[in-house]
Amino acid sequence: MRLEGVELLRVDLALRRPLGTSAGTHLERPVLYVRVVTDQGDGWGECGALAQGTAVDPALGSVWRSLAGGGVGRLVGAAAARGGELPAASSVAALYDDDPPGRLSAGAVEMAVLDAELRVAGTSLAARLGVPGCDVAVGAVVGIPTGRDLGALGDAVDAEVAAGTPRVRLKIEPGWDLGPVRSVRERHPALVLQADANGSYRLGTDGEDDAGRLGALDPFGLACVEQPLPAADLAALARLADLLDTPVCLDESLTSLRRLQDALRSGACEVACLKPSRLGGLLAARRAQRACVDAGVPAFVGGFFESGLGRSANLALAGLGGFTLPSDLSEPGRYLVEDPCGYPEVREGRLVASAAPGVGPAPAPGALGRLTRERAWFPASTPPSR
Ligand code: MG
Repeated sequence: MRLEGVELLRVDLALRRPLGTSAGTHLERPVLYVRVVTDQGDGWGECGALAQGTAVDPALGSVWRSLAGGGVGRLVGAAAARGGELPAASSVAALYDDDPPGRLSAGAVEMAVLDAELRVAGTSLAARLGVPGCDVAVGAVVGIPTGRDLGALGDAVDAEVAAGTPRVRLKIEPGWDLGPVRSVRERHPALVLQADANGSYRLGTDGEDDAGRLGALDPFGLACVEQPLPAADLAALARLADLLDTPVCLDESLTSLRRLQDALRSGACEVACLKPSRLGGLLAARRAQRACVDAGVPAFVGGFFESGLGRSANLALAGLGGFTLPSDLSEPGRYLVEDPCGYPEVREGRLVASAAPGVGPAPAPGALGRLTRERAWFPASTPPSR
């Protein structure tokens, strides 16, 4: 397969409603796609980066600059070194730096190369991972409602439960925790319920100690409390895990396979939310899943409110053993006004990954024509003549 060039596209997608988290409110969902063009067809990758960055995850603009400023050139250079042949997907991650923009770049480029490989081979991602036809449970995320309205929260959770969702993850932060968790638990005593704090509590730092506040959630039978403390302090997270009956789940702390292994050793990670984009790609996420299985730690695939392409990739991944908790795989149409890619319909809270060749459905040309705000083309370099 000869590489002809690589295109970056920024597509502006509208959210159905603002998504509130302790880390801020998302009002829009721009998506960065990578298109790898070869003489045998295209491959598409999706980057997980959001409009605004956090202490852990770079913003979309920063990943775009990293890719346009040399990241795409690394793939083009690797192809030129192979006489113009597209490198194998399994070799892409090693082309990128082990820093946040590098890992997000690697994830998107690797997905595009893998998609091209799979399409040419006539193989689905699920088949490549050895999990074709695997049926997975789909969980939903409910954000902090505007105005912290308990009634609106209840309505949002009721809608998810009515749609057959087996697990709901509530976004919490100090002051929006005990009340909402109690209220949802009273309405839905049997629902698998998680709380996600996005690192907003403190344990013995700056004179603040939220151990009691988090311990007050113990009676409500949460499957886990996700990222209760900031990502970097694994020692504090391990101390908190000892104090709470509710298992501590890590999300933002898990920025690489090495970091996951540190967290597993420290005792801070009792449940793992694995995000392929942040970990450096689908293949890195598969290694992370194996590390969790070896450690006996339950995991699920987390999401970044992807479009149908990125979410389809996550769906195939979630078929792997070890992802024993429902993953963030609800239909993009539930949070995006328009999904340019398409996605299977969730039935009774379950989904089966597509058997079609490739990682997932490519963005439709018509939707791309209307929604693309920026694009950049990088032609393959001409290989030296022999
Ligand atoms: Mg989270």
